[in-house]
Amino acid sequence: MQRYPWQQQLIDSKITIDQLANLLQLPIEQLGGNTEASKLFPLRATKHYLDKIKKQDAQDPLLLQILPHIAETLTVPGYDNDPLQEKEFNPVPGLLHKYHSRVLLVTTGSCAIHCRYCFRRNFPYEDNQPSQNAWALPLEYIATHPEIDEVILSGGDPLTLNDKLLGSLIEKISAIPHIKRLRFHSRIPIILPERITSEFIQLFDNTRLQVIMVVHTNHANEIDAQTKQIATQLRLANMHLLNQTVLLKNINDNATTLANLSHVLFDCGIQPYYLHLLDKVNGSAHFDIPVETAKHLYDELQSLVSGYLVPKLVCEEPHARSKKMAY
Ligand SMILES: *Cc1c(COP(=O)(O)O)cnc(C)c1O
Ligand code: SF4
Repeated sequence: MQRYPWQQQLIDSKITIDQLANLLQLPIEQLGGNTEASKLFPLRATKHYLDKIKKQDAQDPLLLQILPHIAETLTVPGYDNDPLQEKEFNPVPGLLHKYHSRVLLVTTGSCAIHCRYCFRRNFPYEDNQPSQNAWALPLEYIATHPEIDEVILSGGDPLTLNDKLLGSLIEKISAIPHIKRLRFHSRIPIILPERITSEFIQLFDNTRLQVIMVVHTNHANEIDAQTKQIATQLRLANMHLLNQTVLLKNINDNATTLANLSHVLFDCGIQPYYLHLLDKVNGSAHFDIPVETAKHLYDELQSLVSGYLVPKLVCEEPHARSKKMAY
């Protein structure tokens, strides 16, 4: 079967720590990767992303997002495999209904990058693995809950699915009269821009749904001229573009870095939406920033940029009916 170049890139995104060390021209001791950690959650990143990491710099903010670290193997009090207790909000496999008006569809467990801080790094995808037909139950659930007006396609990364599957899912969702909006949460427009094919764009040609794409960027270095091009294409297809960021120690925990990210995003027509405090998932404690520090940082960010460039500082609480303002 012929593959699109992006599908090959997706396959090639699985790499070893040795390959990473070679690529970055760093001796393995200096790189600091840990194979035990990579057994817990494999190392993965696209070529597009890897090309943006500075060579010979073990502290590069893009590198730190993907490097398996020995700290991930430690057990830290207060950290959990399911920090948000999502299992309680999983009425049918593949669907999370936690907030009143919107549901989240776990469309796939695949991602084109493995973010070490990911709160779904231990998610039981096997129990939530919707094959082509298995969307029947989530769709039936949505159809019988008129309070739901928005469906969020998440994962994993929903854009790792092929256009045929996505097309059929979009069609089925738009056939439910009370659904007004369709939202994607994806890192792919930023880290695998080749995935945004004209076939993908055409999926939205005739839809009655309003479509929102929430990208996920943590540092301005992730964004380049191609990002702007892709964002322009998506906007021409009437998509509303938002960004969410996770506040991460040694990666983006200073106001200038965050201000710069907001500027670069807005240049591309992407609106800053959320700045998340870390979800306390096992293996992520080394990224944590004390809440008080986060608040100081946020004050400073607000003083640096226009109001609309300030994302909302939020955290997730296991039983809350929305994200909670952390400020
Ligand atoms: C974050 C999240 C949403 C979306 O929340 P918004 O505040 O609308 O962006 C929906 N469902 C779940 C389970 C979530 O975690
Ligand atoms: S689900 Fe999102 S945050 Fe988690 S590894 Fe995949 S791309 Fe990264």
